Amino acid sequence: MWMFDLMIRGGRVIDPETAFDAIADVAVKDGTIVAIGALPEPAGRTVDADGLVVTAGFVDLHGHGQSIPADRMQAFDGVTTSLELEIGVLPVARWYEEQANAGRVLNYGASAGWVFGRIAAMTSQQTQPTIEGMGLAMRDRRWVTDAADPAETAEIVERVRTGLEQGALGIGFPNAYAPGTGIKELSELCSLAAGFGTPTFTHIAFMSNVDPLSSIEGYTRLIGLAGSTGAHMHICHFNSTSLLDVERAAELVRNAQAQGLKVTVEAYPYGTGSTVISADFFSDPAFPTRFGTDYGAIEVVASRHRFRDRDELLRAQQENAGALVLIHFLDVAANDRHRNLLDVSVMFPGGIIASDAMPWTLPNGSTYIGDAWPLPEDAVSHPRSSGTFTKFLKEWVRERQAISLLEGLAKCSLLPARLLEGCTPAMRRKGRLQIGCDADIVAFDFAALTDRADFTRMNAPSEGVRHLLVGGEAVIADGDLVRNARPGRPIRRPTP
Ligand SMILES: [Zn+2]
Repeated sequence: MWMFDLMIRGGRVIDPETAFDAIADVAVKDGTIVAIGALPEPAGRTVDADGLVVTAGFVDLHGHGQSIPADRMQAFDGVTTSLELEIGVLPVARWYEEQANAGRVLNYGASAGWVFGRIAAMTSQQTQPTIEGMGLAMRDRRWVTDAADPAETAEIVERVRTGLEQGALGIGFPNAYAPGTGIKELSELCSLAAGFGTPTFTHIAFMSNVDPLSSIEGYTRLIGLAGSTGAHMHICHFNSTSLLDVERAAELVRNAQAQGLKVTVEAYPYGTGSTVISADFFSDPAFPTRFGTDYGAIEVVASRHRFRDRDELLRAQQENAGALVLIHFLDVAANDRHRNLLDVSVMFPGGIIASDAMPWTLPNGSTYIGDAWPLPEDAVSHPRSSGTFTKFLKEWVRERQAISLLEGLAKCSLLPARLLEGCTPAMRRKGRLQIGCDADIVAFDFAALTDRADFTRMNAPSEGVRHLLVGGEAVIADGDLVRNARPGRPIRRPTP
């Protein structure tokens, strides 16, 4: 019997919470970090981390893939926990059961998916609790465009409450996909979240550079809900929903925070977004004015087709409501001003890096959830599904030195863990490289760390992650995927 199951030898060990940063060995037993320091003892398995950074695996608050192929691509991006919090799922207990049965590579978890409560209460549609399922349910648009009546509101609140009682990590509010939702309904749900002590995760109701129904109006409503209900309002993808108004939006969020309101932000380091084609904000006749682009900025992921005009877009919304599209809103490659705008969201003090990773799609439009590795040659998504964290660490931390490595790592691991740990104690053992914490560990070659996915090759895994452990079990060993590894465990709020 070995004293330790696993020893990671001689790496540069960094803990984003204590600011520990030194060459050390890390010992793991029964999935837990049990010793850090100069450890001469032998172990069951030894990993040579000479020249590598050894730190806590990244915690992604915003992963829509939730499948084995999506997990694997994120593993090469340094992620050990991938959570579906923006859209969420319903029913919650069934979803956790399905993940456990399917087997997961990374730790997983979800919020209670408010929109699925809305779809069930306001239409007769049966839909899968996924981003594609949400898109398909837009064929009957009442849940998108209408305020719920009192009976419907009561049913929506009840369905979400049941989700929380089943251990959901908070409530997901992809409000822009149901912009007709009334503020009475939202305020009731925020009070529910405040009562449970769980955060909420919002895609703000409106995305537009111009009033009325501007992005600024969306943020102001969200801040109002934080103040009036006491709920923690977390803003998803601050980079994309702010469009060109991110400087003003950042000022408003800072002011809200300074007054003690629980408002937080996350961002992904790209100037292109991705969503379902049937989203209401695309069909708005004022879309070009609101987004500051033309219809050519909307690109179908599966076919790479860009739209000519509104009529063509409306037809596609009817024909293939669940299809995923890219939306190019900032030209960060060519436009300095746009690059600076992206910086405001990515560098927001206390802001979190979260990927908004999308499912993997085949040319026929179906979602790929199979076991092939590498992913099928023609599987597409968004580069953020492959490279969010490595891109951030490479460009912002290593190349530009806009932020220290310690602070950069905190935005990827410690801060998202802290956001959840008030209501989900399991998160206190994640996002840190400390004795007693879960052995969710990434060891990477900082000099070689790079994203490789771009819009021509979205399925190219990042490089530089040499070892990745989830609960002490290797998912990546010596830079290669461990094909049969399924160490992912559920992250769930304790329920009575
Ligand atoms: Zn999202």
